[in-house]
Amino acid sequence: MKTNSNELLSIFLKSSGVSTDTRKIQTGNLFFALKGPNFNANSLAKEALEKGASYVVIDDEAFDIGEKTLLVSDGLLALQTLARDYRKTLKIPVIGLTGSNGKTTTKELIFSVLSQKYHCFATAGNLNNHIGVPLSLLSIKPSHEIAVIEMGANKVGDIKELADIALPTHGLITNIGKAHLEGFGGIEGIKKGKGELFDFIAENKGTVFIPYQSNGVREVFESRKFERVIETNQAIPTHLVEAKPTVVYESKGKNIKTHLPGIYNFENIQMALTVGSFFGLNEEQCHEGVASYAPNNHRSQFLKIGSNQVLMDAYNANPSSMSAAIEHFNDTDHFPKILILGDMFELGDSSAEEHEEIGKLIAKCKFDKVLLVGNHFQNALIHLPNAFYFPDKFGLHTWLQDHKIENSFLLVKGSRGIQLESVLQFLE
Ligand code: ATP
Ligand code: MG
Repeated sequence: MKTNSNELLSIFLKSSGVSTDTRKIQTGNLFFALKGPNFNANSLAKEALEKGASYVVIDDEAFDIGEKTLLVSDGLLALQTLARDYRKTLKIPVIGLTGSNGKTTTKELIFSVLSQKYHCFATAGNLNNHIGVPLSLLSIKPSHEIAVIEMGANKVGDIKELADIALPTHGLITNIGKAHLEGFGGIEGIKKGKGELFDFIAENKGTVFIPYQSNGVREVFESRKFERVIETNQAIPTHLVEAKPTVVYESKGKNIKTHLPGIYNFENIQMALTVGSFFGLNEEQCHEGVASYAPNNHRSQFLKIGSNQVLMDAYNANPSSMSAAIEHFNDTDHFPKILILGDMFELGDSSAEEHEEIGKLIAKCKFDKVLLVGNHFQNALIHLPNAFYFPDKFGLHTWLQDHKIENSFLLVKGSRGIQLESVLQFLE
């Protein structure tokens, strides 16, 4: 007999949480056996129980192992439905957050700010997809007073699916840029896809937060009607008071301290300050929240390695975030400056053109050395006769072994797959 969603909810409420990974099971967990492209976790049901799961949810009768088995038609759908049902029991504000760039950074900043006053929940790491969002929701405890849920998307329809599970009361799009161009089929697709969060908020009479400076988000926002709209302050700080290792910006006569370099990060900071003040935090609490967040995840991370200073941004890259990072690096006044970039992935047909555009941008900047890694970056070389080029990270490693870099300032950025964080070992 199949288990229905009410039964699943009451079993979940008595459990110690949900697990989808037998390596991480904790006693009393409700285990969901999910099917991936390469693996069917139904076969792990027995192991899950042995490791302490209270119940296992399976969608293949062949793996039924008795009274602790809960059979459903589709394990993933059951997980998503459970998350939605549980979410409905939580009477707290849920901030749904998406955008092309800066989602995790903005989420962490908002978490750090709101935590100055509330017991706040935020998505752990980057758990932002059709499995991660349900798992995040199911990790919210009754003691939490507010939640921030990151929502990622590769194509139109993804955010609608996630919003229908998370039921956000507040919505926030960090920006609209060229990320996941391949799946969205172009910038219009990106606007439509990200706009699905605003559709949900508009239909459910929620509140949206709009970044002052993002034309893309403004366009998405202007085509819908909202109950309440909160706009960030003008994002551009009046001046940079101090650059390293922490950055101090002056904005509206106040100093704002942060570990995050780059004007593009200031946009994320403004969003966190706006959200904090909306939820009743005073200015001091908001600023303290921003100042206390230090990234440790290769996103805009400032590192001192030997005699070098490194802006480590090798977590990911796309045309918008790449241009923002290069422009910021060009604006800093620490020399000599060395730019190390890796390919931007998932650009589909626009890949050659977008890499060439980055080449043009670099040609207008002043860097002492430019090192490019990956097949796609070959397209940038026509604008950069003096750049060093390597098909993969190993070529770069060999070059770094032969050319010791010292007393320099480096920006390291590329898509996850290029693994440019590996250069750190050669800079000591
Ligand atoms: P993912 O799609 O992997 O979840 P994300 O949207 O969560 O990415 P982050 O992980 O916060 O983004 O940041 C990744 C990189 O994007 C940063 O290291 C930085 O280079 C760049 N970035 C962050 N904020 C912005 C912004 N507001 N505009 C442009 N680029 C940004
Ligand atoms: Mg993220």
